[in-house]
Amino acid sequence: MIVYCEECGFKNTIDDARIKCQRPQIPCEKCGDFLHFYGRKVRLPKTPPPEQKEAPRSCLILKYGKVVVIVNEANARAEIGRQKSNDIQVVNDRVSRTHALIEYKDGKYFLTDQSSNGTYLLMERRKGIAIRNKEIMLTAKGVIGPGYKVDFKSPDAIHIWFGSTP
Ligand SMILES: [Zn+2]
Repeated sequence: MIVYCEECGFKNTIDDARIKCQRPQIPCEKCGDFLHFYGRKVRLPKTPPPEQKEAPRSCLILKYGKVVVIVNEANARAEIGRQKSNDIQVVNDRVSRTHALIEYKDGKYFLTDQSSNGTYLLMERRKGIAIRNKEIMLTAKGVIGPGYKVDFKSPDAIHIWFGSTP
């Protein structure tokens, strides 16, 4: 993803693989100032109890343009829609005010559509599907189109992938 530095204006190209299950803390390549990601709900996961320390804590990362939202046990819900109150706001006439949500439940991740136009989901090595007013489990890296069809190269796709705590 491309993130412009607010300090010096340098155009930083960030490899998505560097975004893990925590607030991205990536310095500007030019001036070293930390770059600003706009996901509102990005929060550090709860510190796991010591006896579970060896178990890697995973999360689901959502990225739409410059917005990164992390969904995990500590931050179990992310909303997508046209209204500003959503974690991921998508301004498009095909998008409902509260269009879809992504939830963490018992170690699994679900996408629920609650819109008029439905939600398109394409996961790697699967066929794309459109869902409407129902829930589907997210099991692989993919792209989501709220109210419109997308592929991995669409500029208006919401990208999803699983991350681990570094
Ligand atoms: Zn800079």
